[in-house]
Amino acid sequence: MNQPDVAAYRCRCAQFVLAITPPLSNLPRRNASIQSVPSIVVPRNDAQCQLIIKADRDRQSTNLSRKDGKDEPWFIYRCPRCNLAVAYDTSDKDVAYTYILESALLKMDIH
Ligand SMILES: [Zn+2]
Repeated sequence: MNQPDVAAYRCRCAQFVLAITPPLSNLPRRNASIQSVPSIVVPRNDAQCQLIIKADRDRQSTNLSRKDGKDEPWFIYRCPRCNLAVAYDTSDKDVAYTYILESALLKMDIH
């Protein structure tokens, strides 16, 4: 088997936040007709997808409205250094997906 392709990402402030296989560029985007904030969908119960997220998740959710008019609770992961929102879950626990905010993270080079 090939070595899994692990990618690392940093916050805009340079703090390391995420290591993931496969790279975010290989994962699907969330349906923009439901949630217009550009988000990458990370399955949490998939053996092919492993991630380490170094961010603090809010205990309280923030409600955001979706394009279909429903409210969606966001449990936001924040950079431990600058508090920037980098990802979110839409449920407190047993989440099927974690969503990465596309504009928040920059890919790091690993050698
Ligand atoms: Zn940061």
